[in-house]
Amino acid sequence: MTLPHIAVLSLGGTISSTRSGSGPGVTPTLTGEMLVESVPEIAEVAEVSAAAFRQLPSPEITIDDLVELAAEISHRVDEGAAGVVVTQGTDTIEESSFVLDLLLDLDAPVVVTGAMRNPTLPGADGPANLLASVQVAASEAARGLGAVVVLNDEIHAARYVRKTHTQSTATFKSPPVGPLGWVSEGTPRVAVRLVERHHVDLPAGSQDQPVALLAGALGDDGRLFPAVKELGYTGLVVEATGGGHMPSATVGPLADLAGEIPVVLASRTGSGEVLRRTYGFPGSETDLLSRGLIAAGPLDGRKARLLLSLLLRSGAKKDEISRTFDRWLR
Ligand code: GLU
Repeated sequence: MTLPHIAVLSLGGTISSTRSGSGPGVTPTLTGEMLVESVPEIAEVAEVSAAAFRQLPSPEITIDDLVELAAEISHRVDEGAAGVVVTQGTDTIEESSFVLDLLLDLDAPVVVTGAMRNPTLPGADGPANLLASVQVAASEAARGLGAVVVLNDEIHAARYVRKTHTQSTATFKSPPVGPLGWVSEGTPRVAVRLVERHHVDLPAGSQDQPVALLAGALGDDGRLFPAVKELGYTGLVVEATGGGHMPSATVGPLADLAGEIPVVLASRTGSGEVLRRTYGFPGSETDLLSRGLIAAGPLDGRKARLLLSLLLRSGAKKDEISRTFDRWLR
């Protein structure tokens, strides 16, 4: 029987982190090849070619790195890979997987995984996560799902997944939809398919577009907002309180900024849609949207920031950006 070919691309993170040198703590050291070799069961599932794409703690990954990674994944699939597994740090997995989901338009599964316990600890979860990810990447069931995150034997859509705990191996959750499926005795099960997929096309040689992400809090007077444009950001996402509410003192600075660069209104709650027509107080969602802010819909601040940055990078102007956020889930 011929086994499917799966490409594994490693970017660093806890899954690859061991002690090296005399400094404190672990740092990314193991390559993709070493990770795959450490799990002999993988050879029973797929023929794997592994390569180190980057060797970084995951907050160091940039959107430019991910644009390059998306091109490399497409190339691997064109060359015959049935699926691709990316290993990286879990701190930003919800962001990098979402960028891959937006940039790639493939049927082949693209699975992003990592580990919460590094290889020097008892109960290290990297080997189990890597094996489950290869099983998902090689499966028919996961085709057409877009990019997914597989950890702790669960399959999560990149569009919804969030890291919710600093250390738990059950840290990944996908509010409000839950996981798309799971891996049982080595078999991937897909119980849920999302109704929509979204895609952003980038022109060759597109330039990074820095988008700021700021959170609202009680009593804030908005003095940071005028600095956003001055510092060279080309967009802002504000993670407002509740359904999209900010203190009234921030409305003027936010409205001024929204007249100059796209400003997206997200919620800091972590689940649910930004409201559009419920509250009428100064600083409410109706007030902010009437002053030119764009509702993030069901996307959280992190994901809204990445979508906005990629749309700006694609050359989209404010109208098209608004339409894209509005069309989400319609
Ligand atoms: N807990 C993180 C990890 O899973 C820390 C390091 C990182 O994100 O690279 O990898």
